Amino acid sequence: MLFSESNAKIVPFYTKNDKINKLLNFSFKKERDNFLIVNFVNQIMDSKKIYILGIESSCDDTSAAVICDGKVLSNIVANQEIHAKYGGVVPELASRAHQQNIVPVVQQAIEQAGITKEDLNAICFTKGPGLMGSLLVGTSFAKSLALGLQIPLIDVNHMQGHILAHFIIEENTPIPPFPFVCLTISGGHTQIVKVSNHFELEILGETIDDAVGEAFDKSAKILGLPYPGGPLVDKYAQLGNPKAYSFTKPKVGDLDFSFSGLKTGILYFMQKQVKENPNFIEENLNDICASIQHTIIEILMDKLKNSVKQTGIKHIAIAGGVSANSEIRKRLQLAQDHWGWTTYIPKFQYTTDNAAMIAITGYLKYLNNDYADISVKAEARLKVTE
Ligand code: ADP
Ligand code: MG
Repeated sequence: MLFSESNAKIVPFYTKNDKINKLLNFSFKKERDNFLIVNFVNQIMDSKKIYILGIESSCDDTSAAVICDGKVLSNIVANQEIHAKYGGVVPELASRAHQQNIVPVVQQAIEQAGITKEDLNAICFTKGPGLMGSLLVGTSFAKSLALGLQIPLIDVNHMQGHILAHFIIEENTPIPPFPFVCLTISGGHTQIVKVSNHFELEILGETIDDAVGEAFDKSAKILGLPYPGGPLVDKYAQLGNPKAYSFTKPKVGDLDFSFSGLKTGILYFMQKQVKENPNFIEENLNDICASIQHTIIEILMDKLKNSVKQTGIKHIAIAGGVSANSEIRKRLQLAQDHWGWTTYIPKFQYTTDNAAMIAITGYLKYLNNDYADISVKAEARLKVTE
């Protein structure tokens, strides 16, 4: 119990550091002296900036970012173009490219942040889920750097990263209040997650087969578009009629998803049309893309409506690569007026894989003193709740 000047009575009053609290309790008998010292220490600690380096290497993008007290100073992403000609990510090529990229990408992130590596307070890295070879490059690099600099190492779950990207501090960007529901839509995952606090997550529903990003990419492949096809479907869709063709929506649980049937439906439809007119796809590309995209986004919106009905939570966020899609962004914006939802749409640079989301998650763990041991291992399969 220490003396507080504001209301002149005895109240608990501590610094933000347990070791210093113990020392103060030992050294100071007089409450007023204690109060002044505590205030002084808190002021010094508040003025000290916390710099975090994040490293992301779970799939085919090598990324490094520096954040300071939750604000992004740099976020460098090196895309691996080598996979485009194979129609998908080739794991062995991805890990080799990460090895080549990681040093220059990290160096550039630190330089662009205007700091030196000695200013860093912790190194965070993606532990999983992802491709094992790719994860190993980031994990080993992060371990060596943390060891060399003698600073904490923090492991980050990639899927938590997508969601917690909403906690990056930026002007004119509201941060969702707890609890909120996040629709996580990426190349490998499709989930509806209830977020009760930063690290208390519950999966309310998920895909039973393909992820929504895969649905975009596989449909694009059927149309002869290169990998990753999602952004191209989005681009052509903007010039087409979303009602030109209709595809059957899957029948699964209220909050679950299934996309493999849709993909097969699209394949059979195209095969039939191309038999009758070999130029069918070329001549109708915009309408086909618009119709496919519309069907997928309708499925996502139906599930979100079900989640609001079930949970009563109207704070809705989206995260992951597919949240870059222009139609889902538009539909969420409209949902604010139509259904009274408050929606949270990430900036483009924080949708697909990026290290800023890893760094912000690491920062939140840093504030909780939640560090990793040097023996921590990459995990290809890791649930959002782990
Ligand atoms: P993962 O973490 O699972 O590798 P990402 O979060 O990097 O996935 O997201 C990549 C996925 O996002 C790819 O399937 C890509 O096609 C999809 N995507 C990116 N931009 C768009 C867009 N504008 N419209 C639809 N899908 C998109
Ligand atoms: Mg991702």
